Amino acid sequence: MLPKLPRVVSDGPLSQASAELLHGKVELLPWETLFGQVDETVVGIYTFGHPRVDASMLDRVPKLKVISNYGVGVDHVDLEEAKRRAIPVGNTPRVLDGATADLGFCLLLAVARGLLAADRFARGDEYVVGGRKLPFAREVHGKVIGIIGLGRIGREVAKRARAFDMEVLYHNRNPRPEVEQELTVTYTALDELLMRSDFVVLCVPLTDQTRGMIAESQFELMKPTAILVNIARGGVVDTEALTEALLTCSIFGAGLDVTDPEPLPRDHPLLSLENVVLTPHIGSATQDTRQRMSELSVENLLLGLEGKPLLHRIV
Ligand code: NAP
Repeated sequence: MLPKLPRVVSDGPLSQASAELLHGKVELLPWETLFGQVDETVVGIYTFGHPRVDASMLDRVPKLKVISNYGVGVDHVDLEEAKRRAIPVGNTPRVLDGATADLGFCLLLAVARGLLAADRFARGDEYVVGGRKLPFAREVHGKVIGIIGLGRIGREVAKRARAFDMEVLYHNRNPRPEVEQELTVTYTALDELLMRSDFVVLCVPLTDQTRGMIAESQFELMKPTAILVNIARGGVVDTEALTEALLTCSIFGAGLDVTDPEPLPRDHPLLSLENVVLTPHIGSATQDTRQRMSELSVENLLLGLEGKPLLHRIV
């Protein structure tokens, strides 16, 4: 008889790398298992997308040993409940910092230089010598960038900004003098950062403190020429206030990898605005990074199932 594999609930579809790494090591059960009866056989949860894990779900899997998340953001997991039950929660920091910062800069450049309109124009019939010209774009190099959340990803954004000769301001709850020296960045109060920055890049986790931290009064502080880039979580920005700020040109534009809700309803006004560039939450979605995320998240899961310390544990 084959040995029994540990039973793990996961939302899918999994990436090929995660599926291969888990093959023969665990028995995967569908997410719906967590909506059913109490199941004493489930010992692991592997969150792949961002499915909500709440107290009532945890009630139904009393023998749970570990929750492993494919990704760094864990706002979809009730961490307090997991902590209260002493269930370790693992995630995948560091391996995705570079890719996420690259995407943030890609959005920043795309909005500032009007890349989407320029691409359409270059392909279109109006592109003839002496014909209509595109409006001039906004300069990037030498401008002021404000990074809200100078953690692992924020630091990578700062490095890219320094390579573009930008002045870098940042805001955290705690100043980081060691990083200030290393990267030549300046700690700034949030309001001042919003007032002075040509580009505002959001890199904070979504928590009770950061939910809606960029709302109407924050947009009022920003320059009419400013560009907002969100590579954190949609909920950090008040979507209604953002839409209003863009419609009324109280800021110049926005580059959004994440939105609230996600995806936006197909008739949402943000989807028809020219001064917005959207991507579908692909900050970490490169082949190399996603491979590393699979390896780390599967390793966290397997270690937790064996009762060993995770490589990266949040609670
Ligand atoms: P991190 O290393 O923990 O950095 C987060 C930073 O935010 C820290 O510097 C922290 O500093 C600051 N912060 C936290 N709460 C704050 C508050 N209330 N006010 C001001 N600053 C605050 O996290 P990370 O690895 O860089 O990841 C950040 C987030 O990016 C993740 O949580 C995830 O949601 C998102 N993300 C998105 C993608 C994507 O695909 N778009 C990919 C990866 C990650 P203090 O503690 O000093 O405040």
